[in-house]
Amino acid sequence: MEEEPNRIKLIGYLEESLPAEEMTRLEEKLRTSPRWREVLKELVEEVGSGDYSLATIWQRHRLTCASRERLGAYLQGGLVPDEADYIRFHIEVVQCRRCQANLEDVRSQVEVSSQSLSENVSARRRRFFETSVGYLRHE
Ligand SMILES: [Zn+2]
Repeated sequence: MEEEPNRIKLIGYLEESLPAEEMTRLEEKLRTSPRWREVLKELVEEVGSGDYSLATIWQRHRLTCASRERLGAYLQGGLVPDEADYIRFHIEVVQCRRCQANLEDVRSQVEVSSQSLSENVSARRRRFFETSVGYLRHE
């Protein structure tokens, strides 16, 4: 089955904001798929009609903001590449303020929780060590 045209990537293509290999992949798509060309043409017409901005296209196509859970997974590398691309594009290219703020917030929480996790681990290790030393002494 043919891959559905990905508007997010096509916008990135128009803006030339994609990594080189992704640009090449999309060029290939556009060369071989009438459907992809059609969607690109629509996007270009939006450019021509003068109300083109990433924000309006984003809204028009209901490219929604990421939830905090998804942002957390994004930070920890737990998303499939397409979804990670989507969020990266949304935050870095579209520069959605709301998601940027949420991402910062989630990032600080992730840092705190992984810090306290490693504190827990070293406390546990220390207790284990002290206990072992205790056993050794008693023997
Ligand atoms: Zn957003």
